[in-house]
Amino acid sequence: MNGETRKLLEHVVEIASEFLDGLPERPVGPSATAEQLHAALGGELPQEGSSDLEVIDELAAAVEPGLMGTTSGRFFGFVIGGALPSTIAADWLTSVWDQNSGLYAAAPAEAVVEDVAAAWLLELLGLPPGCAVGFVTGAQMANFTGLAVARHHVLESAGWDVEAHGLQGAPKIRVVAGEERHATIDRALRFLGLGRDTLELVPADDQGRLSIDALPGVLGYDDGPLIVCTQAGNVNTGSFDPVGEICDIVHERGGWVHVDGAFGLWAAVSEELRHLVTGVERADSWGTDAHKWLNVPYDCGIVISAHPETHAAALGVRASYLIHSGMERDAMSWVPEFSRRARGFTVYTAIKALGRIGITAMVERCCKHARTFAVSLGSLPDVEILNDVVLNQVLVRFIAADDAASDARTKAIVEAVQSDGTCWLSGSTWKGKGVMRISVSNWSTSDEDVEMSVEAITRIAASI
Ligand SMILES: *Cc1c(COP(=O)(O)O)cnc(C)c1O
Repeated sequence: MNGETRKLLEHVVEIASEFLDGLPERPVGPSATAEQLHAALGGELPQEGSSDLEVIDELAAAVEPGLMGTTSGRFFGFVIGGALPSTIAADWLTSVWDQNSGLYAAAPAEAVVEDVAAAWLLELLGLPPGCAVGFVTGAQMANFTGLAVARHHVLESAGWDVEAHGLQGAPKIRVVAGEERHATIDRALRFLGLGRDTLELVPADDQGRLSIDALPGVLGYDDGPLIVCTQAGNVNTGSFDPVGEICDIVHERGGWVHVDGAFGLWAAVSEELRHLVTGVERADSWGTDAHKWLNVPYDCGIVISAHPETHAAALGVRASYLIHSGMERDAMSWVPEFSRRARGFTVYTAIKALGRIGITAMVERCCKHARTFAVSLGSLPDVEILNDVVLNQVLVRFIAADDAASDARTKAIVEAVQSDGTCWLSGSTWKGKGVMRISVSNWSTSDEDVEMSVEAITRIAASI
């Protein structure tokens, strides 16, 4: 490495440290408007280059007011995890090493790290050893990939090779899901040529759980190709479909059960939460995220299936996965991508740095913080907690004269909290009602972070 490159990287360490050190004081949300960011970052296409150091300095300065403090312990928006220090380091090295992770031949160490991390993940999540595991961008692509494997399997059972013939002329596939499934399921069905209108919906209960009593009625007596999409961790309430019971019913008919467990699958690491995922290991495929609750930097989702041969047949490039012995993983056999970032390094690092005990503690700590939010905010006058806080999600509604006024007051409080900057959380809608949604998914959130955030929300709610 020449001296210039070393200087550049050392300078970046300075910028990164300053950002991380500043997080506790910095407003959690961004302060710049889109216009201001365009003004700071835009301009003519550069004709001549500039010095690396200058470009990086200017980039860091220009984006700072537009950065969301997602790695702050007081960020509770959407369901977004932070980034463990060990995984930031591993992620930096991932860029430095710049491995192309499609093929063993191009990235042998990453392939082995993925194999090791995959086995550890299965053990952590309580899923059968020997499942196929692929590292994708996020749960959207994990759901897409899991459902691509499902599509292959159910059509193969009906005597149709979808990889050869596509869907034109194929037997019809029925796809069933709960009313409160995540939007990424509908999107995956669009990408798979099945279309979102294919979905047959099962009513959900007040917490968003697929109603097991209504499932047989929706399924009827037809025994054709069937895929049922279940959910472990509703994005609003954190609730779980009864996946084990669903598997019993669906497998009886030769159907495939997919689980969207973007964050909820991680309940399996905790003795006190494990009951929520009872029977989840009997499903056929699962999608989850490492960039949410495992707190690795973006991006990393994980697709898992219990049928490795079907999985490789649906995704793989035939010639390549046949060449090697079992020790040489070609990652592209398990994911839609060909060339891809080496996502195994951060996952491997997070699991080693925290250990099983540390991961369990992190998940349980987030859930404890969520309960504190629910108890503290729920005790305020004119505040209702709309969900059973079984996991890390809390739905808060601020009550006014009628429903419309409550919606408006809740929205105004969410916006005021966002611009106050002490913490950041998002609004959502639950069963037609506007809510403030608090998601505790960050490794670093402390009791003081929760206390400060409750104090800010309480102060703002009193004024609106
Ligand atoms: C976040 C989430 C997704 C989408 O995950 P990405 O990582 O954003 O692709 C899917 N399902 C559920 C339940 C989620 O919470």
